Amino acid sequence: MVNGGFDPWQAMLERLRDAFDLVGADEYVRSVLSVPRRSLEVSVPVRMDDGHVEVFKGWRVHHDTSRGPAKGGLRFHPLLNVDELAALAAAMTLKCAIVDLPFGGGKGGVRCDPTKLSDGELERLTRRFAYEISWLLGPDSDVPAPDVNTDERVMGWLMDTLSMIKGGNIPGSVTGKPLALGGMPLHAGATSGGVVTCLRAVLAELGIGLTGSRAVIQGFGKVGAPLAYLLASAGMRVVAVADVAGAVYNPGGLDPSQLAAHVAEHGTVAGFKGGQSIGTEEFWSVESEVAVPAALEGAIDTEAAKVIQAKVVIEAANGPTTLSGDAVLESRGVVVVPDILANAGGVTASYLEWVQARQGYAWEQRVAAERLRSKMDLAFREVWAKADRLKISLRRAAYVLGVERVTEALLARGLFP
Ligand code: GLU
Repeated sequence: MVNGGFDPWQAMLERLRDAFDLVGADEYVRSVLSVPRRSLEVSVPVRMDDGHVEVFKGWRVHHDTSRGPAKGGLRFHPLLNVDELAALAAAMTLKCAIVDLPFGGGKGGVRCDPTKLSDGELERLTRRFAYEISWLLGPDSDVPAPDVNTDERVMGWLMDTLSMIKGGNIPGSVTGKPLALGGMPLHAGATSGGVVTCLRAVLAELGIGLTGSRAVIQGFGKVGAPLAYLLASAGMRVVAVADVAGAVYNPGGLDPSQLAAHVAEHGTVAGFKGGQSIGTEEFWSVESEVAVPAALEGAIDTEAAKVIQAKVVIEAANGPTTLSGDAVLESRGVVVVPDILANAGGVTASYLEWVQARQGYAWEQRVAAERLRSKMDLAFREVWAKADRLKISLRRAAYVLGVERVTEALLARGLFP
């Protein structure tokens, strides 16, 4: 068990089993997709600034690669463990299939607290970790991207390390890179942009107006912060934001730019003068039409699910709702747009960046932005239609669509040898 009793791999297995039953999957498909394809555990020795050597633990997990190279982020977190990574890798398999990208699913990272590392220590840790997992990486086999506590700087070090090891420049081996190395301007805001595309579509289906609607956002990092800005620009009121250190509330709407400036200075939303402080336990019960978990797994448990006021929960984070939380939300009639659909904008932007590296020809940004939007919109329509036809939740429908597409590839390839 991890994360206060929430076990993400067990939750993933349960959701997969439900999808296997709904599609009538055969034993072969069930057994292959119920285990990660491979998982590499590595020790990462790093010379710390004071001269001593500390050994960190790291992993890279591939869940399934029938549809293409493993794709998925690298995270640095003090509680990271391999079961969590396996669940996140499986979510990537399904996510890539739902947006119909030619990728399988992977995830990896290092168990460390990046807030306690100097820039030099972080770079040495990244480079040694990249070396340790380099056997797996490459544009045709496994393409990492940023995730929790990693960013374009980390991706730049990763790409440079791989290029040094293998020789030549390998921009297609990593996505979410700095612009100077072949990254794309739209990557940074792509996850939140995709969340907005799904939100517009789901609100339209439910007949709820976007303008004037209220949102609460848990998490103000790479996804939550740009999302607050996008929602406010679209005419919504972001009435509450929470992070690990506290929560702030303003019924008239928090100003996202001022909040971002406060976070840049203090490292947390707590203490923001443009709203009143509330307890993190009060946060989910703030009145709103839309609730967005944009932090870590397991955030919406039974207790949170019981008090959520929103009509729509849109999962910007990966795995934010526990199985029991899901059941409570469903019984209360709250519509949940699941992570493997809602936050697929990030990996869709990664796909465009990977294509750019492989073709050696840069996208016109306007064209790339339109591709991103239309891919997300199509994925939403396909999941919505399936949910409607089968009379099931959007989450179950998304799992069904993902499992169907992965199954097709698995069966088309056949079993080696
Ligand atoms: N970390 C993001 C996700 O969880 C992006 C992964 C990628 O682009 O490979 O979807």
